[in-house]
Amino acid sequence: MTITHSGFVALIGRPNVGKSTLLNRLIGEKISIISPKPQTTRWQILGIKTLDSTQIIYIDTPGMHQGETDAMNRYMNRVAHSVLHDADVILFLVDANEWDKDDELAVKKLQDVEKPIILVVNKVDMVKDKLKLLPFIDKIKEKANFAEVIPLSAKKGENVEALEQTIMTLLPEGPALYPTDQLTDKNIRFQIAEIIREKLINATEQELPYATTVEIEQMAERHEPDKKALTEISAIIWVERPGQKVIVIGKGGEKLKRIGTSARIDIEKLLSTKVFLRLWVKVKEHWTDDDKALKGLGYD
Ligand code: GDP
Ligand code: MG
Repeated sequence: MTITHSGFVALIGRPNVGKSTLLNRLIGEKISIISPKPQTTRWQILGIKTLDSTQIIYIDTPGMHQGETDAMNRYMNRVAHSVLHDADVILFLVDANEWDKDDELAVKKLQDVEKPIILVVNKVDMVKDKLKLLPFIDKIKEKANFAEVIPLSAKKGENVEALEQTIMTLLPEGPALYPTDQLTDKNIRFQIAEIIREKLINATEQELPYATTVEIEQMAERHEPDKKALTEISAIIWVERPGQKVIVIGKGGEKLKRIGTSARIDIEKLLSTKVFLRLWVKVKEHWTDDDKALKGLGYD
């Protein structure tokens, strides 16, 4: 199949509007982690979809935030801004049920963008009074120059295909930029670390904002005759303070065990092997406020 059209599509919007859910839905695989807690996505994720003669490369971004000054937030803002320059098409996501000051902040960043912007009104499955949807959308349309408006439900998959069709009409001519069977630019180690981080975030009631990161220390695949392949993985969960270490480990190590079990199940699906997962929790103090420490952990 010859690719005639290709380009980058950025997913922009405040935390929690459903960017990662939509990306996973568009790609059809879990490549970005999802959590009911905001600010789960810290990296820029490429999701690649090759359809007929078009290759769409999606960029999932961290949410844009105001007023916070530590290094991680500066990093996140930088990523959010650079994406606006790299993209050919921008998806501005909003929650159909709620418009807040972070939405206002995000839409402001779109004002000088001279690229097609699609207003994606997500979570329509949650809208009780459908009559209110139209005036809600009309208000947002006044705030930037939108090429299209598409209401959908990323979670249920409703109208997602219409979005994909619209994107395809807006992409420039160009060749394939990635192999046509590739789904993401992230390597396996990264994906494994993200699975562990997702389980960690979902298992800890207390917010651990930016305070945790996961490093894959070792990974080895073992093959024995007549047995399913086994991948041995050891990973370190880095936290900022001893108190956070206690939270992550839980009483008698119970919480860490739960995190490990649910992560292992997902990693086994990803690798199609059996997995033996060892998790350690270590304290690295004040790293979120130290750019050097961030670099040391691979945020660059
Ligand atoms: P992000 O921060 O913008 O990447 O948002 P996520 O994709 O992590 O989603 C945040 C929360 O919204 C999660 O609990 C999702 O399950 C939920 N969510 C996302 N899309 C939809 C949707 O279409 N309908 C409903 N009801 N919930 C959704
Ligand atoms: Mg996300």
